[in-house]
Amino acid sequence: MPEKTFYNKRERQIFYDSQEWTDIKENLFKIRGKKCEECGRKKNIQVHHLTYVRFGGNELEEDLKILCSKCHTDEHGLLIDPKYDKKINLYLKFVDIFNDLLTGILLNQIVFWYSQNKEGLSKLRVFKEDKYWIAKRRNDWFEECRISEYQFDRSIKILKQSGIVETKIFKFNGEPTTHIYLNKEKLNEYLKGENND
Ligand SMILES: [Zn+2]
Ligand SMILES: [Zn+2]
Repeated sequence: MPEKTFYNKRERQIFYDSQEWTDIKENLFKIRGKKCEECGRKKNIQVHHLTYVRFGGNELEEDLKILCSKCHTDEHGLLIDPKYDKKINLYLKFVDIFNDLLTGILLNQIVFWYSQNKEGLSKLRVFKEDKYWIAKRRNDWFEECRISEYQFDRSIKILKQSGIVETKIFKFNGEPTTHIYLNKEKLNEYLKGENND
């Protein structure tokens, strides 16, 4: 049976609250002593996962490290987990076109949706009037890249005026939704600098 390697926050918390995890920790303390393996402190002792591959009760002794809360914080750095926390990958070139960060972020995400997935297939599913469209509500854009509805309205207007995108209202899941089409030729003109003053 393949091991489950992805656990969401809630699932991880359930495990951390379980007797099983308490037993694993107690057993580890018996073997290696209840003190920080970085600084030797004996207060505020916690157990850190060096790897999550056996997370959830199958941890081996070498998967774990005993740390005080201070060293544990140092080990994790900021409370950002690259495995679970969302991020975007921004091409600065898109920001440069309009000298506008928000419009650059929106364009970056539109291009992302028009790029192919790992299997070389389109990420887009909505095919209308002979072309693929992005069907997303304004709050979906917020979810994706933290652009507010007001910021979206402003940036999409800039992109439409440039000719890089076209928008049209179609029904999506029964709701009138702005659909976005990316004009790649036009975007390339901007990337080549042909439309820049
Ligand atoms: Zn940890
Ligand atoms: Zn320590």
